[in-house]
Amino acid sequence: MRPTVAWINNGAIRRNTEKIKEYVAGSARLMIMVKADGYGHGIVNSAYAALAGGADALGVAIPEEGAELRNSGVRAPILSVGALLNADDADTVVTGSITQGVFDARAVRLLADAAARANRPADVHIKVETGMNRLGVRNEDLPALLDAIDATNGAVRVRGVFTHFATSDAADKKYVYEQDARFRAAVETVKARYGRQVLAHASCSGAILELPAMRYDMVRAGIIAYGYYPGPDVRKSLDLEPAFSLRSVVSNVKTVEAGEAIGYSRTFVAPGKMRIATVPIGYGDGYRVAYSNKGHMLVNGRPAPITGRVCMDQTMIDVTGCGDVHIGDEVVLIGRQGEACVWADEVAAWADTICYEVMLSISPRVRRVCIDE
Ligand SMILES: *Cc1c(COP(=O)(O)O)cnc(C)c1O
Repeated sequence: MRPTVAWINNGAIRRNTEKIKEYVAGSARLMIMVKADGYGHGIVNSAYAALAGGADALGVAIPEEGAELRNSGVRAPILSVGALLNADDADTVVTGSITQGVFDARAVRLLADAAARANRPADVHIKVETGMNRLGVRNEDLPALLDAIDATNGAVRVRGVFTHFATSDAADKKYVYEQDARFRAAVETVKARYGRQVLAHASCSGAILELPAMRYDMVRAGIIAYGYYPGPDVRKSLDLEPAFSLRSVVSNVKTVEAGEAIGYSRTFVAPGKMRIATVPIGYGDGYRVAYSNKGHMLVNGRPAPITGRVCMDQTMIDVTGCGDVHIGDEVVLIGRQGEACVWADEVAAWADTICYEVMLSISPRVRRVCIDE
């Protein structure tokens, strides 16, 4: 079997969840976001690890993700936060007892119809537009939306109200406070109509860490459950463990002389005699071309810079400074090797992106192996 493997440490997800739970304990429930295949870690194992760590609910982006969790036996509350766009998806959420985020009358109608077909109610959380300008109902349109829901005579039931912050991981919190003021008004409107038990929630990882006043009844943790901070400007106040590591082996190693070129388009020319190793991973695995001549891997606990352009299936690295290197030796692309480590947020910087995308980009061709340590 291919030795290029993403190792997923469910134990790390469980312990991260326990730490977040303790951090917000007493004031709020905890939803763990497992959308997009658990941020690339696998949706089902991530969900069970989060529940074992004390998560009260799970968050997904699309109904199919919720259905996958139900099909694998998850009984916990699930909220689908994306837009609901067709009858088929409405059937998926209603028959799967998945709570749906809604912000428009069309989705309310789709859900009411699905509820009639299934002969059971559809539970929803109202998504409020407060400044992200992505999905949500504006405060001035909220009463009309609630009227449309009430007109379904209980087929659609309001169980929550939520919004999403655009800048909670930024140093300057002014915009979050503006968003929060709009949200607070929406929460009052919804709770006045349906009661205090309606769940209000707003905080993603950045706000959980930085803004305890915005916890409301529940928080929605994503990236911190997987062991990363949402950005460089947040307090690293939880002792998180990254759950994702990416390893391969050396598939070839050779000496090149000064002036010899490595890889496509000869973007790297050896300045002197060098030892060059090949690693069987490339952009076909989501190890991005943008890392070419910028990033490094670890071999024998030392950095091995990427030389030349990342190919579809392979990448070449400079192992001159890595001691004795042989075919079959371990290569760490994300994770720890001996004293050295390279984490996804460092990899992200090579491509001017965020750690979320680095892990999510690793394609299904890379086998995921779950461990619990
Ligand atoms: C993805 C997502 C989150 C989690 O965001 P993190 O930054 O990963 O914590 C929270 N809420 C919504 C609506 C999301 O889509």
